[in-house]
Amino acid sequence: MLPASFQSLLSQELDDLRDAGLFKDERIITGAQGARVRLADGREVLNLCANNYLGLADHPEVRAAAAQALEDRGYGMASVRFICGTQDRHRELEQRLSAFLGKEDTLLFAACFDANGGAFEPLLGPEDAIVSDQLNHASLIDGIRLCKARRFRYKNNDPADLDARLREAREGGARHIMVATDGVFSMDGVIADLRGIVETAERHSATVLVDDCHATGFLGARGRGTHEHHGVMERVDFLTGTLGKALGGASGGYISGPRDAIALLRQRSRPYLFSNTLAPPIVGATLKVLDLLENSAAWRNRLMQNTARYRAGLAQTGLATKGDTHPIVPVMVGDAALSQRVAARLLELGVYAVGFFHPVVPRGEARIRTQISAAHAPADIDFALEQWAKVQAEFRL
Ligand SMILES: *Cc1c(COP(=O)(O)O)cnc(C)c1O
Repeated sequence: MLPASFQSLLSQELDDLRDAGLFKDERIITGAQGARVRLADGREVLNLCANNYLGLADHPEVRAAAAQALEDRGYGMASVRFICGTQDRHRELEQRLSAFLGKEDTLLFAACFDANGGAFEPLLGPEDAIVSDQLNHASLIDGIRLCKARRFRYKNNDPADLDARLREAREGGARHIMVATDGVFSMDGVIADLRGIVETAERHSATVLVDDCHATGFLGARGRGTHEHHGVMERVDFLTGTLGKALGGASGGYISGPRDAIALLRQRSRPYLFSNTLAPPIVGATLKVLDLLENSAAWRNRLMQNTARYRAGLAQTGLATKGDTHPIVPVMVGDAALSQRVAARLLELGVYAVGFFHPVVPRGEARIRTQISAAHAPADIDFALEQWAKVQAEFRL
């Protein structure tokens, strides 16, 4: 039993969260992930809040590949990779991801959270420095904290400020410097200026690591990610990414980069060494996803068409949005409480989207973050726009 003082502290913290309106309830859905999801009350609503960008989370060929892998290679690994947890297909997937991303080698992790957590500490020490974007994902922040390198932070997506911080790091005597950035800032739907970042890093002989979770599979001419989108594929040294978003949406992560760096991570990266890797059905399904994406642009074309239709429709309403072309489309409402009322009304109207407010985004910049998928039909996009028009009139947005 918890001591009474501990117990009362916990319940006080929970009450504080509820009082501040910051308590997060999990919404239960009772079917597969898709353009529409079934809620616990039986209603089916249009889903505008999944990271299922390419609509592959419940694709029949992906399901079949997962089932086949379950038959061929079993359910669980029951071991970490270096004992007896590496199947032929794990290496095959690492090689396929390397080729897809244009990198020399790849290391799989149970999640991208783990990839970011284990990426820095083995490669950089107290003589080194990491220069990181102020809006980077929590997992990059944690990974950087676990590393003894000196830490510098630059203004969001600002190569000029990056330049100043890199100069500071160099003048401080740093041996190696690594720049870390998200490829896409997920609260804003903004694609990082990787060209500016890479050029700045190169001027200071710094290495660049990009977390491309919200881009791999669909940004760039061949869907390889933000580095392809900006024409700097070879100039980004490391990419981390997830299998839990566009690439099928199950779970799993990876880091791709130069051969020797990946080889050292394979020796020293703690989330890799001390945790099981992916279950065979995920490996089999991800290999199928890569087959699909390498052989057809259909999914990413549909995603981009849907996104363009949605962004153009919202622009006509005059609602304020952020970003230019990315399928993450935040609709700005400003006030935190208002964002919760708007999200609740959208749900009544059959559209599921979530309101985000401080501390996840700056105070006074609350927003409804909507996300478009290739699984949506044009009629779904139009339905969403019609509901937005109603909500806009009701709340005078
Ligand atoms: C989703 C996300 C992660 C975490 O990915 P998981 O594989 O679910 O752990 C890491 N970084 C960014 C930028 C993300 O969006």
